[in-house]
Amino acid sequence: MKPYTHEPFTNFEDEKNKQAFQEALAYVQSQLGKDYPVVIGGEAVTTEEKIISINPANKEEIIGRVSMADQKLAEQAMNAALTTFETWKTWRPEHRANILFKAAAIMRRRKHEFSAYLVKEAGKPWKEADADTAEAIDFIEYYGRQMLRLKKGSPVQSRDGEFNQYNYIPLGVGIIISPFNFPLAIMAGTTIAAIVSGNTVLLKPANSTPVVAAKFVELMEEAGLPKGVLNFVPGSGAQIGDYLVDHPKTRFVSFTGSREVGCRINERAAKVHKGQKWIKRVIAEMGGKDTVVVDNDADLDLAAASIVYSAFGFSGQKCSAGSRAVIHQDVYDTVLEKVVALTRTLTLGNPEDVTNYMGPVIDGKSFKKIMEYIEVGKQEGKLMTGGEGDDSKGYFIQPTIFADLDENARLMQEEIFGPVLGISKARDFDHMMTIANNTDYGLTGALITNNREHIERAREEFHVGNLYFNRVCTGAIVGYQPFGGFNMSGTDSKAGGPEYLLLHMQAKTTSETL
Ligand code: GLU
Repeated sequence: MKPYTHEPFTNFEDEKNKQAFQEALAYVQSQLGKDYPVVIGGEAVTTEEKIISINPANKEEIIGRVSMADQKLAEQAMNAALTTFETWKTWRPEHRANILFKAAAIMRRRKHEFSAYLVKEAGKPWKEADADTAEAIDFIEYYGRQMLRLKKGSPVQSRDGEFNQYNYIPLGVGIIISPFNFPLAIMAGTTIAAIVSGNTVLLKPANSTPVVAAKFVELMEEAGLPKGVLNFVPGSGAQIGDYLVDHPKTRFVSFTGSREVGCRINERAAKVHKGQKWIKRVIAEMGGKDTVVVDNDADLDLAAASIVYSAFGFSGQKCSAGSRAVIHQDVYDTVLEKVVALTRTLTLGNPEDVTNYMGPVIDGKSFKKIMEYIEVGKQEGKLMTGGEGDDSKGYFIQPTIFADLDENARLMQEEIFGPVLGISKARDFDHMMTIANNTDYGLTGALITNNREHIERAREEFHVGNLYFNRVCTGAIVGYQPFGGFNMSGTDSKAGGPEYLLLHMQAKTTSETL
């Protein structure tokens, strides 16, 4: 088998690729408005109540109607997953991995189709959609190979006359609750990690992006995943999310989303319910308030580009987004000017048009919340550019920058999850490190500097899970830059890293007297 290398990104400068993507968009356009079922034990179940998934760039356009599971169906799905676990856990790990390799091949063949769904359903610009699909393929390929490595267990000592082994076995039924911002990559990655480790799952996708998840569920079936391993239960958090997190048969919860919901899940999952005979495990990837730090000795154009693209990629709707910049006072005015000038060149509009750098934010609720933060910003700092939103057709917000913020301002502390960048001035390198670490989070960060000593100091002092030097703080690659943060950013897990599958398994020691 080929060693793992990450899926290359598509070059849309190439006319051939551009045309292929246009065709995929046209194909997806012809598929819009379809119904998608709940899937329990491999059986499609259509319900009255539906999530209506819409295009955030064009509210009139319906992407699909997705059946919602209620508690009764959630219970049925749990039973299907419990029954299937008894057989799935006995599958040889390499046979489980083989299904993944098949799934990755299918997704690679239909890459632009999946990306086109992301453009339509999540409002992702082409490049962001292409990266999302590439990352999904990476997760599938990488976790498949990780399972082949872990199936051997880990080495332990044996004394004379004894034979010791240390192996990993699955946990049971997992609840996967996935986010809208990487509706393919994170949804598929968290699901696949659980499944290839030998668990069965109930997947509850984000309510704004359930169609691309339904397409993935179809793909897994096509790849030969046995019925009942992956059960698809779109639905409301209040109705079935809590119910499944509380369920005594739930063995683990893998959640990606907001800090608020992550903390709530962690708290609920901690309670032991009647009939429950384990302590649930929670894997949570939560928020970020990530900083791009610019030193006084730095490439200032690189600094401006790193700030702008970290802040505004996918309209800042990444937990890795560089939503704040901290700039050394010696270069503050120059960098600020460059950042504002570059931001003004960013194009905002329908993401179906490849020339648009930024599309809409995901929905009306996000739009409102981001616009409220823009008002807060006007009180706290100086509006340098942007500041306007327009939700008449879709949920569009201009890339917006506030400068001269106090390091403790709300705009410098709270996760906005939109195209709003806050900037503060720092006195010296010590001050920059203090500000970089002054939030509740610790996900990503970047330092732009030519100073070798400062790189080494930041390596020690800048307390984030993913620290980058002289580049953007987004865009971690599976198997190259395992992703996940400290503090309120989550449970310290690293998606796309060598230990990730172990979070879905437990180790068993056997010792035989010879
Ligand atoms: N892994 C992504 C990155 O490195 C971010 C994931 C997220 O925002 O949830 O940019």
